[in-house]
Amino acid sequence: MQDMKQYIDEAEATLLHTYNRYQVVLDKGDGVYLYDIEGKKYLDFCAGIAVFALGYNNQKYNDALKAQIDKLIHTSNYYYNVPAIEAAKKMKEVSGMDRIFFTNSGAEAVEGAIKAARKYAYLKDGSTDHEIIAMEHSFHGRTMGALSVTGNPKYREAFQPMIGNIRFAQMNDFDSVLANVTDKTCAIMFETVQGEGGIYPATEEFMQKVKALCEEKDILLILDEIQCGMGRTGSMFAWQKYGIKPDIMTTAKALGCGVPVGAFLMTEKVGQNSLTSGDHGTTYGGNPLAAAAINVVLELFEENHIIDNVNSVADYLEQKLDELVAKYEFIKTRRGVGLMQGLVFDKPVGPVISKALEKGLILINAGTDIIRFVPPLVITKENVDEMIAILDSCIQD
Ligand SMILES: *Cc1c(COP(=O)(O)O)cnc(C)c1O
Repeated sequence: MQDMKQYIDEAEATLLHTYNRYQVVLDKGDGVYLYDIEGKKYLDFCAGIAVFALGYNNQKYNDALKAQIDKLIHTSNYYYNVPAIEAAKKMKEVSGMDRIFFTNSGAEAVEGAIKAARKYAYLKDGSTDHEIIAMEHSFHGRTMGALSVTGNPKYREAFQPMIGNIRFAQMNDFDSVLANVTDKTCAIMFETVQGEGGIYPATEEFMQKVKALCEEKDILLILDEIQCGMGRTGSMFAWQKYGIKPDIMTTAKALGCGVPVGAFLMTEKVGQNSLTSGDHGTTYGGNPLAAAAINVVLELFEENHIIDNVNSVADYLEQKLDELVAKYEFIKTRRGVGLMQGLVFDKPVGPVISKALEKGLILINAGTDIIRFVPPLVITKENVDEMIAILDSCIQD
């Protein structure tokens, strides 16, 4: 077998260099642990960026996928398939939304949400200059539409022009939203908990005021739950804790727990008055294999009481992270909800994350100064202790 260095050299000679990757080649996973090709073990507090909620190598999940592979992988959306119908029913149940469109990724779910909102507004007044208000520091994906609503100028700069008529407001600053509302506003969109932008949950007040504004003016509220959804914050979707409901929501990441799949969902009102036959499509979206993944994920969420586990472990994780905040003066604060937490440093966290990797702990950042914790949702308090012990020793180093 080649060694790690050889693989990495080959990767750098062939893959487009869009990532500065950590110098490790991962090989297999089991529960909350990953192993590299040399057999070194890592405790994983990244979960493939909030994807592998159930942990690795879950037997029931693997078996369900294998069974579907042996039966039917793909048909196209010209025909119906049972796994997709079941996945749609289950998603309606857990979200309380009415209509769903399956995509292959988060960015595509965001694209679909934008199209649905524009079409909704177009059907009302026939004009084609509607505006969307998005948030500074947001992240919605890398395709042109999703990038256009991503509030990080660095990601957008070289790819101008973006799609038009996007305005940016400040998350959790209702006045800044109000200041951007015009007669042309068709949607206000944000992540219920900002992920890449630094783990900023929407405040209760902000959510309520934006929701009321949207209702008053028939503006659509689009919530991006791609990272914060699927149980991560202690409810199936993060918005469910606010007692409001979006008009459109997006999901992906943990939805398929590793099989690439996303979705955008909407209320019946939007469903009946936006995208219709011929308006939108996808070759792969919601194919039998992807839908089988969603089905088994939702079954396992219920059977294994995943959300209860999030709620019982999250308090402990918060407490342990708060102890680090108290211990080190260069750690400024902790922010987050459930198993989506950020530890905010007053300096770049890159060296700590690299050190952690050396010591067998996988962590990621959110921006340069924040360590992001988005572990598998099946972690235990013992896993938290193990993580904290390694992290603490890395910080000391
Ligand atoms: C990851 C992410 C996306 C993009 O999802 P992809 O599957 O990478 O296209 C969009 N929005 C949020 C909030 C995300 O975290």
